[in-house]
Amino acid sequence: MAIEVSTTERIDIVDITSEVAEAVPADIDDGMCLVFVQHTTAGVVLNENERGLLNDITRAVESLVPADEDYEHDAIDDNAVAHLQATVLGESVTVPVVEGELDLGRWQSVLFVECDGPQTRRVSVTVIDG
Ligand code: ZN
Repeated sequence: MAIEVSTTERIDIVDITSEVAEAVPADIDDGMCLVFVQHTTAGVVLNENERGLLNDITRAVESLVPADEDYEHDAIDDNAVAHLQATVLGESVTVPVVEGELDLGRWQSVLFVECDGPQTRRVSVTVIDG
């Protein structure tokens, strides 16, 4: 199945944990859930959904791949920085499933990270019964 995610900022972080959890069938005792972003300028990470930390992640992404560089891809569609930021973040996370629930750590959330927003995106969720 897939989740639609809409954002309002160029770099924007959306907690999609509850949408991902809804995609997990209750009858899976022991399995895996793959959350996969089907885009080249957005990513997904596991971390804590705390407002200050979300701002810090945004700042870290901006500082790891600064916007004011001369990137070759900008000659094509002027969004090289977003591609590079998405590359650093990664396009997928895998979460264990135990008794129909995401087996996340106490402070872990599934965070979609838009790098070229605002946009509406598609995130695929695949659950494998182990
Ligand atoms: Zn591009």
